[in-house]
Amino acid sequence: MIDLRSDTVSKPTEAMRRAMAEAEVGDDVYRDDPTVRALEDRTAAILGKEDACYMPTGTMTNQTAIRAHTEPGDVVLADVQGHVAVLEKGAPAALSGVTMRALPGDHGIFSGEDVAAACAPPHKFSPQGVQPPLKLLCVENTHNLGGGTVWPPAALIEVAAVARRHGLALHLDGARLWNAAVASGLDEAELARPFDSVSVCFSKGLGAPMGSALAGSADIVARARRFKALFGGGFRQAGIVAAGALYALEHHRQRLAEDHANARRFAEALDLQAGIAIDLETVETNIVRFRVIAMPAADFVERCFEAGLSMLTSGADGVRAVFHLGVDAPDTDRAINIVREVILAELTARLDAEAPLV
Ligand SMILES: *Cc1c(COP(=O)(O)O)cnc(C)c1O
Repeated sequence: MIDLRSDTVSKPTEAMRRAMAEAEVGDDVYRDDPTVRALEDRTAAILGKEDACYMPTGTMTNQTAIRAHTEPGDVVLADVQGHVAVLEKGAPAALSGVTMRALPGDHGIFSGEDVAAACAPPHKFSPQGVQPPLKLLCVENTHNLGGGTVWPPAALIEVAAVARRHGLALHLDGARLWNAAVASGLDEAELARPFDSVSVCFSKGLGAPMGSALAGSADIVARARRFKALFGGGFRQAGIVAAGALYALEHHRQRLAEDHANARRFAEALDLQAGIAIDLETVETNIVRFRVIAMPAADFVERCFEAGLSMLTSGADGVRAVFHLGVDAPDTDRAINIVREVILAELTARLDAEAPLV
């Protein structure tokens, strides 16, 4: 089975498993685990921040960050399709008591003007303090629901400057910041520079079995550590899994370029295929989103699955395919062939139905 449902399905390699088996461990709740501490130090260094905290999931790193930057009743700005706003089970309301206000992004990318408009008072003479306080802006790079979009560096800097002018803190959901760095040719620290806190995932394209980290100033990370414990995220000999993440950080970042090349190859083949619509400009990293015209997306995905290719539907006609270290170039060619065969079979069946031979 070629599994393109998500890059989270990627599995630890043999070398990664060896590193995990040999990891030195301790009780991380007592801050005794040397492998966790090494991972945190290395992550903070790569992201150009003072400190970092290893946590079980990206949802937890994002939500501890939101909790650390806000108080109940505050307002947080994020893209209308932002992972923190729509894919984290309502956690900002449930865990931090904040409301989310949506910015009108295009594939997850919004402008400084959008941020300024969200910060403007509702009318000219509204008194100070009539609105709940806007505290935080969240930016996602690359953008998951946007299709793996990479923020143009100039847009990032503009949005950050406007947010600062309005007194907002800045959080980066960089679950796939590694992909953004490889695609843009800028290093992670450069992309993280405008932000007070940065969340990164080890469990996606990097191929580690689990875990994420929140990086930022010593103060913000210390506050997030408290909420990690409060949310039930104290995990003891976490060095076992941290060793996989540390291995991935050192060995799997550069190879993300292969995933981007495979995604591109897949997208370009689909672009030539009748019965499928795709906007090649939106394919920038390892995520490919396309529409199926020839048949309902659910039927398409089911027939691909029967032929050995697993993908996810997204709405009535949308499909998502995500490339990762478990899928190589020959797998990509096999995936292309499966898509072609499924569409061809459907188009042929329709032609036969419309013009039966007599
Ligand atoms: C995957 C992901 C997360 C975190 O997800 P977990 O499943 O909780 O680890 C956060 N943000 C984005 C953009 C993601 O793609």
